[in-house]
Amino acid sequence: MAYDILLIEDDANIRSFAATVLQSHGFAVTACETAAQGLKLFNDKRPDLIIVDIGLPDGNGIDVCRMTRTGVGPFVPVIFLTAKGDLQTRLAAFEVGAQDYIQKPFAIEELLARVKVHLKIKESQDELARRNYDLEILHRVQQDLSDMIVHDLKAPLTSIKGTLDVIKSRGLISEEAYKNLLSNAGEAADFMLLMVNDILDIGRSEQRALPVELSSISVETMMEKLKSLFNPSCQRKNVRIVSTVDPQAKTLTTDTNLFFRILVNLTSNAIKFSPKGQDIEIRTSKVNNKTCFSISDRGPGIPPHLKNHIFDKYAVGHTKSAAEASGTGIGLAFCRLAVTTLGGTIFVEDRPGGGSRFAFELEAK
Ligand code: CA
Repeated sequence: MAYDILLIEDDANIRSFAATVLQSHGFAVTACETAAQGLKLFNDKRPDLIIVDIGLPDGNGIDVCRMTRTGVGPFVPVIFLTAKGDLQTRLAAFEVGAQDYIQKPFAIEELLARVKVHLKIKESQDELARRNYDLEILHRVQQDLSDMIVHDLKAPLTSIKGTLDVIKSRGLISEEAYKNLLSNAGEAADFMLLMVNDILDIGRSEQRALPVELSSISVETMMEKLKSLFNPSCQRKNVRIVSTVDPQAKTLTTDTNLFFRILVNLTSNAIKFSPKGQDIEIRTSKVNNKTCFSISDRGPGIPPHLKNHIFDKYAVGHTKSAAEASGTGIGLAFCRLAVTTLGGTIFVEDRPGGGSRFAFELEAK
């Protein structure tokens, strides 16, 4: 890509000489003769480098340089052309942010050498600015993510602590109440563990792929396991998990652990966002060579601006607040990672009649 150089020089001979030399060395040159034209071209074209004469018909190069130093935008080096070799002019030029000066008359080699050096420095500075910007974004996103994780871990932890307090303070409770409390606390602990494992797997996947151990599984057995895992929260919300399995999709060869955790994450979200008394529908069907699993709820649905990002590792960075993505960010990022590892695809769509339908397809084998 050719660098754009803005050349502001009122002496026609020097202007044309410098422009020709630079153009013949592959630079794109825009030349003009006044300070006003120069500033307009600077604002319109945002060149990579400016060469400007000190004495101009409508002002001077120092003012031009000063005015290019206001506002935002990438750094643009300025080289002065000057016949005045006096120290004061040079110092004034450096004071307003110029990078260099060339004394007229100059040799072609010197002009080219200085232009190249300053373009090289500019390139490094731009690269640094880019990296800085990326790091800043990453930092913000990581901060959001860790806020979200802490927020999500706090709820089950509070529930466990509450349960322990109840058991401690009311020593004598019925056997049934005691069992219920323990089962709720156990469920809360299971979810914390699930989240922690998801976070660890996502972190590890940056170094190496998730380990996969294939075995033949019975889909119906998995569904029963899922229902029993979620029994306490289903009872609390008066929600049922209704599962239907296509006779052709009763078995599947996959990684049991990854597969079950995908289901657990998606079902957990569905229950979380489901209104009380509404069923969660889990369908297993065979479509061509794929086995398709869909988990549908009657919750508020996924806003259109989130649909493309909801499986991103840092999905929370695209949302308005941590609360908006709370409880889905890490789990869904894990789901995509696990589904991709198993060679499948995952997506979300609106459920007809309201709610979300999360679905993933795995090769039927
Ligand atoms: Ca001049």
